[in-house]
This record gives sequence, structure tokens and C-alpha cells, in this order.
Amino acid sequence: MYIPPLPNECYVIMHPKILLFIVVLFIFTDVTPASTDPNLVSIVYFEKKPYGIQEILSKYIKIQSLSGSESEAGKFIKTLCAENGLYITQMGDTDGNYNFTASILPLDKNIPNIIFLNHLDVVPAGDITQWDFPPFSGEIIDSEIWGRGAWDNKGAAIMQIFTVIEIAKRYKNKSLKYNVSILSVSCEETQCDGGIKYVLDNFLETLNPAVVIGEGPPALKGIIKNKPELSLFGISVAQKRALWLRLKLELKTNGHSSVTPLTYANKEMVVALNNLFEKKTKIIFNDLNIDLLKQFGTLNKGFSGFFLKHPKLFKGLITPKLREDPLLLALFSNTITLTSLSDDNNRINAIPNIVTAVLDCRLLPGESTDKFLKILQRSLSNKNITIEILKEMKDGPISSNSTNFYKHLESAILTNYKHSKTATVLLPSSNDISLFRQYGIPGYSSIPVQIDRKYLECIHNLNERIPSNILDKGKDTYVNFIELCLDEA
Ligand SMILES: [Zn+2]
Repeated sequence: MYIPPLPNECYVIMHPKILLFIVVLFIFTDVTPASTDPNLVSIVYFEKKPYGIQEILSKYIKIQSLSGSESEAGKFIKTLCAENGLYITQMGDTDGNYNFTASILPLDKNIPNIIFLNHLDVVPAGDITQWDFPPFSGEIIDSEIWGRGAWDNKGAAIMQIFTVIEIAKRYKNKSLKYNVSILSVSCEETQCDGGIKYVLDNFLETLNPAVVIGEGPPALKGIIKNKPELSLFGISVAQKRALWLRLKLELKTNGHSSVTPLTYANKEMVVALNNLFEKKTKIIFNDLNIDLLKQFGTLNKGFSGFFLKHPKLFKGLITPKLREDPLLLALFSNTITLTSLSDDNNRINAIPNIVTAVLDCRLLPGESTDKFLKILQRSLSNKNITIEILKEMKDGPISSNSTNFYKHLESAILTNYKHSKTATVLLPSSNDISLFRQYGIPGYSSIPVQIDRKYLECIHNLNERIPSNILDKGKDTYVNFIELCLDEA
């Protein structure tokens, strides 16, 4: 029986239209010079030797850390953090359950904690002969750092680690309102029980999170036609949740297919799925995606702008446009994807009695599983099909975009990147941050770097790599964010 792979969804390829549509807030902030002191930038020590941010990422990529085999990578990061003055708290120390925090103050001081969340595991490299450079080489070639994890999630993690080390140096011996930590966890990509779930089940109080910042979208340029130089930084406050289902149909018929029965399992399942997929996907408007449309309206002049600013009134005009693009549709509907159809039969002249189908469904925030399943069952129009829930993610609340943390993150981005805007976004996929939101902790997903779209297409794909010059700028932006939090009146 085919069991679908668990989520490997930390990445989101930000299709330009998605970014355009997911704009909710544009904040206009005065641009002031970046605060980073060049003398403090980006040198850390590992085994008593100095390294820059690019070299450390290169070393980290060289350690293969597929989901379930994270210990070696974890020990590397932990050693690096400890050697540079951070306090370590271990939260599981075996493969598949290797998690720890590295903080500027010991966690037992119980100071509210600003947490940078990252994961140690990477997805498999696929066909390594198809890579231009070996996937675990960590090569730095032509200003690019190559290898699996260069973006997801090792590149982002290294920016976080350099941030926390720099903050620890700057704020040494000062009385602090917040602790600042990185939290590195196992198997985000497979969502095993030893990763973030284990940490929050057992160490939530120890962590004492005030806010969590994790992986999310980078900025993209060229989104707005008449402002090609403008970079849009998405800050995610919510995500859709996965509901994975197995449909099963059992129908005993004669075994030999030389005489076709009037009906049989495979035929019935195909007909039922056809009923399901012939139905038009229902467009669902909620507060978040209505705001997206309204903001999109403010970017557009003329009639289309006017329609979008009044989405409920012009739903009939807007809906067909949403249906034209799968990515847009994902932000305005509960989606259903058939990811497996199986009957375990490899004989051409035999009729199997059991057929199963696996559906990867993604529900918008606030949508009920029961209601969704009832509609699904009705759409299949076959009462012999049973529906089993393989996995269901909990609905997480939406984090507010009016907290000081959000405002400071936004302000840090706008300070460090000229010609930029920020946008509050909803992600069509999910990552570990949603678990924090379920405990009422605000969680924001954003990686404050500018990156060309061609690099995003390599995430979880062949030839993953990033431009080496984005790392320091991303780190500077995170440092600036933390300064704003710590220097709050
Ligand atoms: Zn990831």
C-alpha cells in the first residue's frame, strides 16, 4: 500500500502572481542607514579557527543530514554556537530526535525568548548525476554556494546563528528584556514525532517563547509592473493546513477480466473520482484573502483596481480569474490533489477487489474538517467508498500583524533594503511555525533576503544553491530586528 510522503513543505515557491495577490499591508517607513558595525561582522570560531558566514554554510552543507539522520549536523551547529559563547539546552540527542537551543542567556533564567526556528534535516538530493556540482559538496563557485540545503534550511539557519552570536557579543553584560535563541530541530521535512512536536510537548515552558521567526518567503523584484526595482518582502502570519485522506473501495467480482463485470472496484473508483474532480472548486473568501484582494486593488489602476477593492461586490468577475491560476486558486479554496491511485495489481488479466486513492487536501484557516469531508463524500457519489484520515494538521490561529515584533521585523527589512515594501501573507503550504501558533505564540515566517526566482525553483530540486552575497545582508536585517526588540522602551 502506498503511503504518501509526509510533508516537505517548508519551502514555498513564490510565484509572482501569488506575491502580488497576497499583499495586505504596505507600510511606508522612512529609510535610515543600516546599523551594522562592520568591525563586528560575520567572523565566528570553529575549533579555534576563524570562519566567515559563507565558509560556515559550505561546511554545514557538506554534512549530509537527511531526515532521521540529523545528529552529525546538529553536533556541528551546537559546537559552533557553544564555542562562540551561546548557552546550549539539549532537547533530544539521537537521530530523528536531535533538537537544541543556543541562547544568549541560559534558558533557566526564564526570560521571554525571541526564537529563530530552523531545521537540521534536508530532503534527498534525487538523481545526483543530474546535478552540475555534487549535492553535498558545499562548493562556492562563481559567487554561489552549492548543495542540498543551501536555501532550505541551512542557509537560513546560518543567518540566524550569526545573528544570535553577534547579538550575544553586542549585549554582553547588559540587562535584557528578552533572551534570544536559535532552535534547531529534526525532521521538519517528514514531520516525525521527534522534531518540533517533541520539543513543544516537553520543553515549551523551558523555551518560554515570546515570538518565533522561521523560514518563509524571500523578497522578489519585478512584481509590480510599473515599479520593477521594488522588492516585495512577504511576512507570513498564517498557513493552510494539510488533511491527508485515503479512499478505499472494496468490491468482490469475478477475478478474470475476460468477461467484464457490470461494475468492479477500479471502475467505480475512477467514476467516483471523476465526479469529484468535475465539480468546480468552491472559491472561499475569508478576512485574510479579502484583504489580499483589496490591497491588490490599490496597486492596480482603472477598472480592475476598483473591482478588486470591492471583492464581495464583484465576486462574479473576480472568481474566474482566480480559477485560471493554480497558485491563486490555492489561496482562495480548499484544494484536493490525487497523489496516489493503487490496487496492488500487476496482472493484466486480473480484476483486483480493492482499490485505494490518496488525496492531499489543503484547507484554508478556519475551515472545518467535518464539513469538508461531508462535501467530499457527497461529491464522490459512492456510498461504498470509505474515507480514512491519514494525517490532519490542526488549524492554527493567524498571528497578528500589529504586534511590536511584526512591526520591528518590518522596520528592519525596510531599513536594510532600499526600494522595498513588506506584505502580510498567507502561505499555501505549512511548516513548523504553525505548532507555535497553536499555543498562542505569534509566529512570523520570512527570510529577509533578495533572491532571483531561478534559485527558488531549485529548492527541493536539482542544483539547489544560493548567491553567496545574500547571507550577510540577511543576517544584518535579523540583527537589526533584534536590536529594535531589545532596545524597546
Ligand atoms: Zn525547510
